[in-house]
Amino acid sequence: MRQGLGFSLRQMSGDALCWSPVRGFLQMAQTLPNRVRRSALVCGVVQGVGFRPFVYRLALEEGLAGFVGNDTGGVTIEIEGPEERVAAFLDRLRCEQPPLARIDSVTVRELAVTGDVEFRIVASEVRGNVSTGIPADAATCPDCLRELLSPLDRRYRYPFLNCTNCGPRFTITRSIPYDRPQTSMAKFTMCPACQNEYDDPLNRRFHAQPNACWDCGPRVWLVGADGNKLLEVSLTSVFANSANSAHPANSAHSDPIDQTISLLLAGKIVAIKGIGGFHLSVDATSQAAVMRLRERKRRYGKPLAVMVRDVEAARAIYALTAEEELLLSTPARPIVLARRREDCAIADAVAPGIPWLGLFLPYAPLQHLLFADSRVRALVMTSANLSEEPIAIDNDEALARLGAIADAFLMHDREILQRCDDSVAAIVDGAPQLLRRARGFVPLGVSLPFDSPPLLAVGGHLKNVFALARGRFVYQSQHLGDLENLTGLEFFRESLDHLMRTFEIEPQAVVHDLHPGYLSTTWAREWARERGLPLIAVQHHHAHIAGCMAEHGLTGSVIGLALDGTGYGSDGKIWGGEVLIAKLGSFERFAHLETVPMPGGEAAIKEPWRMAFAHLRAVGLDLESAASQAGATMQEARLLDRMIERNVNAPLTSSLGRLFDAVAAIVLNRRVVDYEAQAAIELEGIAVDEADDEPGYAMEFINGNWAAREPLRISTASLWRALVEDLRANVSKQCIAARFHVAVVNAFTQAAVLARSTTGVTQVALSGGCMHNRRLARLLRVKLEADGFEVYQHRSVSPGDGGLSYGQAAVAALLFHPSKIG
Ligand SMILES: [Zn+2]
Ligand SMILES: [Zn+2]
Ligand SMILES: [Zn+2]
Repeated sequence: MRQGLGFSLRQMSGDALCWSPVRGFLQMAQTLPNRVRRSALVCGVVQGVGFRPFVYRLALEEGLAGFVGNDTGGVTIEIEGPEERVAAFLDRLRCEQPPLARIDSVTVRELAVTGDVEFRIVASEVRGNVSTGIPADAATCPDCLRELLSPLDRRYRYPFLNCTNCGPRFTITRSIPYDRPQTSMAKFTMCPACQNEYDDPLNRRFHAQPNACWDCGPRVWLVGADGNKLLEVSLTSVFANSANSAHPANSAHSDPIDQTISLLLAGKIVAIKGIGGFHLSVDATSQAAVMRLRERKRRYGKPLAVMVRDVEAARAIYALTAEEELLLSTPARPIVLARRREDCAIADAVAPGIPWLGLFLPYAPLQHLLFADSRVRALVMTSANLSEEPIAIDNDEALARLGAIADAFLMHDREILQRCDDSVAAIVDGAPQLLRRARGFVPLGVSLPFDSPPLLAVGGHLKNVFALARGRFVYQSQHLGDLENLTGLEFFRESLDHLMRTFEIEPQAVVHDLHPGYLSTTWAREWARERGLPLIAVQHHHAHIAGCMAEHGLTGSVIGLALDGTGYGSDGKIWGGEVLIAKLGSFERFAHLETVPMPGGEAAIKEPWRMAFAHLRAVGLDLESAASQAGATMQEARLLDRMIERNVNAPLTSSLGRLFDAVAAIVLNRRVVDYEAQAAIELEGIAVDEADDEPGYAMEFINGNWAAREPLRISTASLWRALVEDLRANVSKQCIAARFHVAVVNAFTQAAVLARSTTGVTQVALSGGCMHNRRLARLLRVKLEADGFEVYQHRSVSPGDGGLSYGQAAVAALLFHPSKIG
């Protein structure tokens, strides 16, 4: 079973392609008795990543004849020569693959010797990419970076250089096959120098589809908020600014990249066109600049991602672990969440109220050029959008939507064809976990433990990601954001259309969440009806747990701890603190948090004081005390009480996320939040330095009846009494937060122990949005393992609602194969 993020964490290095001098064909005496011919079909991420030239070089080095070519299944190779050389070739094929390749399987067959004397790269089949799709976008490789910063190189400071080991892929591609005419590079005709590189199998740019240079490729320019062009970059201006005296001096500041740097250093907001969309950028070390951006975006709480030059610069901001360094440096370049140093230079307004920062390294040449100026230390690089709308990608669209936010726009004429936000990852409990799957990971497939028919799983409502499944793989879309508005739904449609074309998948069934009110559910019903396709509804928390199971190849029974915000339950209530006895195809609810009303429904998510009030009233606090603890006026308290009493807009929930909100509201006095789960995240944040073994608050079990399928309930009554007592005794909020975490860990571990004694199941799968809480994830794993459980956590798929569609696909795929797994 593949672990990690679905890619190798090894850093990109040109060394992977080092090779000894060609041994030559003369070695191949055709009459040798041990001469053999074999074919090898290589599947995985093997197209558009320099795999054929890599095979070509290996064959030359081993002195073998034959050919290599792309076809519908992957890359096909035939090799002929002495048996030991063929064996060495096949070994090296598996060990020395190019940086961006990922081999899933190699199928070798014996063939008759033909007497071939040379090795060739043969032309692609007409339609050749259905199982390999389009590669993911990859960060500028070390070789390209060296050229970018070398005044003697013909691509010195060229903002769009790339090679087969790096550069944009998914975001510039319209359709398959992945060839230049199907990309937004189609309008740029390669100059003779670029064409020569492109045609030479021994060149690093052999068939690098976005290959370009100053003479033939895209350009970058700077415009003001009014859309008028300020400066355009040109070869002359670049060399005029360099020390290269061969070029006559121009004006000293004619480069739009230099001009952008000056604007940023002066505290201005610049919208910068990147790989998957525009970023809004400001100097991350300037509190005033960051506050200006927040005021213009009207986002005051949500943490902003920060880009820094390199790992060394990151070390000055984080206390980085080796795993975090590796994660920061992978070709996918995700935003990595890690603990900030207290004394770091980043403005407090970047991530107010929490001890972590989301940091990432430059992944496009244009970004490297900004950091080539030593005065640029750290830049906020946040997706250019308004709240949860899709990221802006088009030049005109950016001007129209961001004109009131940005002071200037650094644009270019290489069109972005697929919107793609930055991915987010973290080291969770010692290993990488992908929290938001987007640029660098899409459209890489995540494997299933068994084959699936072609399926569409539409995911959830917020943080939507859909998935297409076929065979052994599920292809999740990029993070699409909230499907609450038409722009969100339009983005969903566009991306679905693109991914269906990319993999040539025609779904035979549509999978959706059980929630009848999700826009994704309504849409799925309509879409399936138009096409006459069967619909499969999967309960939200079953999908969460099934996702974790499928990722680890688990096909038996598990105890699933679905610790989540909110999801529609089989009984019509809102679930989210669930202990399930789950198989991939079915589940039973063994235990759950005691339900409490959510006064105001959705409003209770945005105003956690409502949850605090509801919890305190539920455990018997009088109106006045509950109001005062929750920070509510008596008028508000009476109104909420009436809603709860009359059961008006106060649905019952067993959500752990909402319990976190309630505790955070009281402990931190946070009445309202600017983004989902902000209060809960802050509660995790203040516990960060507390000891792991703080005694937790007690939580009792209210007996269920497993034989009658009546779940056990986990009561929060004692927890609340003890917590209020601690507050009155002026126990520090840090300590209360730590005790609360331990209480949750103890209660769910105890529930798992009871589930094990009832069912004999010893494997535990952890999932749901609360598993973004790294303290909770770590403590739960430690405690469960100490109690003898085998614990599984998400790695390649998000534990939050971004992972739902993968779990939905796994559940539905099994329904089509009931005979295979019990
Ligand atoms: Zn490169
Ligand atoms: Zn060129
Ligand atoms: Zn969920």
